[in-house]
Amino acid sequence: MHYRPTRARINLPAILHNYRQASHLAPKARQVAVIKADAYGHGAVEVAKYLAPHVPAFAVAFIDEALLLRSAGIQKPVLILEGVNSAEELKLAQQSDLWPMLHSANQVDGLLKSDGLDDLQCWLKVDTGMHRLGLNPVEAQSWADKLGRKLNKKPVLASHFSCAEEFHSETNKHQMQQLFALAAHLDCEVSLANSAALYTLPGAAVGWNRPGIMLYGCSPIPGKTAAEMGLQVAMQVTSQIIALRDIEAGETVGYNGRWQASQKSRIATLAIGYADGYPRLTNSSSEVYLHGQRAQVVGTVSMDMLAVDVSHLPQAAIGDEVEIWGQHIPVTEVAGHANTIGYELLTRINQRMPRIYQHD
Ligand SMILES: *Cc1c(COP(=O)(O)O)cnc(C)c1O
Repeated sequence: MHYRPTRARINLPAILHNYRQASHLAPKARQVAVIKADAYGHGAVEVAKYLAPHVPAFAVAFIDEALLLRSAGIQKPVLILEGVNSAEELKLAQQSDLWPMLHSANQVDGLLKSDGLDDLQCWLKVDTGMHRLGLNPVEAQSWADKLGRKLNKKPVLASHFSCAEEFHSETNKHQMQQLFALAAHLDCEVSLANSAALYTLPGAAVGWNRPGIMLYGCSPIPGKTAAEMGLQVAMQVTSQIIALRDIEAGETVGYNGRWQASQKSRIATLAIGYADGYPRLTNSSSEVYLHGQRAQVVGTVSMDMLAVDVSHLPQAAIGDEVEIWGQHIPVTEVAGHANTIGYELLTRINQRMPRIYQHD
C-alpha cells in the first residue's frame, strides 16, 4: 500500500509492442532486449518476465544485474555488456548461461587461462571509433582466433556507434565497415545497432541488435516523437495536487523566490520533487499535464514537491491527477528543459516511486 499519490505506471504490453517494432525494423536480425539499469527504471525483473517468451536474450551492463534476473527465475541468456573480470565470474557465466562481452586483453586472457569453459558463448567488443571499451580491430583479430581455438562457439563480434542518432553519418559508416570486414575475415556473427541505429543505419541492423531506450517508448532520435517512430510510451509518472493557493502579482513561489507572479495567479503544489527523480535544475518552460491541458512548473523544484501555475484551469482541485511525464509530456521533453536526456530521467527513478504494472 502506498498512501502518497505519486506513481509510475508501467505499460508492459507497450514494451512488447516496441520490441516488436524493433524486430519489424530488422526482420532478418535477432534483437537482444537491453534491460540494464533496472530496465531503464521500469523494473528489470518485471520487464524480463513479461518479455521472456518473446525474446532470444536480454542484455545488462554487469554480472550483478544478470544474477538478479537469475534469482528471479529468468532463464533466457543474458548478455553482459561490460564483460566479466574474474575466474569466479567466468565460471558463473558458464553455469548460468550468461554471455560476457569481453572488451579488453585482460578479460580475454582471463578466459584463455581458465579451464572448463568450452561451452561459454562469449562476445568480443571491438573498438571501431567510440574509444570507450573494446579491442582495436587488429588486436581483436588475434584474440578472436585464440578464442575460436579454445571455445566450442565462435565469439560474436560487437561494436557500439558513437553517433548512432545521426542520419548519413560518415563516422557510423566507417565503424560499420570496420566491423563487417573483421567479421567476414573471421566468419563471425556481428552486433552493432542500438535503438537509434535501427532507424538511422538499417544496413547495420544485422546479426544481433541491442535495442534499449526504444523498448520504453522513448524516441531515440532527437526531434522525433515516439509516435512518429511507431513507439508507445511505457511509463507514465503521475502525482496529485496536494495544495492550492492564490497569490498576488509580485509575489514569489518557492525557495529563493526564483519565480515571481506577473499577475494574480493560482498555484498548485504537487507531491513530487527531485528526490523522486524530477530534475531540480529545470528551466522555466517545463510543463505538466492536467485537465487536458499543460501547466507550467514554477519556482525551484523542492525535494518532495513542485509548484505549477494553474491560473488558466479554474476547475483544478486538490486531489486532481497530474501527468508529470508520459503520453502527453514526453520524458525527453522534460529532460530537454533540464539539459539532459530521457535516459537519465528514466534511470533515476528510484525506490521512492511505486511502480504499478499494467499487464494487458
Ligand atoms: C545501453 C547499450 C545499448 C542500448 O542502447 P539504446 O540507445 O538504449 O538503444 C546497446 N549497446 C550497448 C553496448 C549499450 O551499452
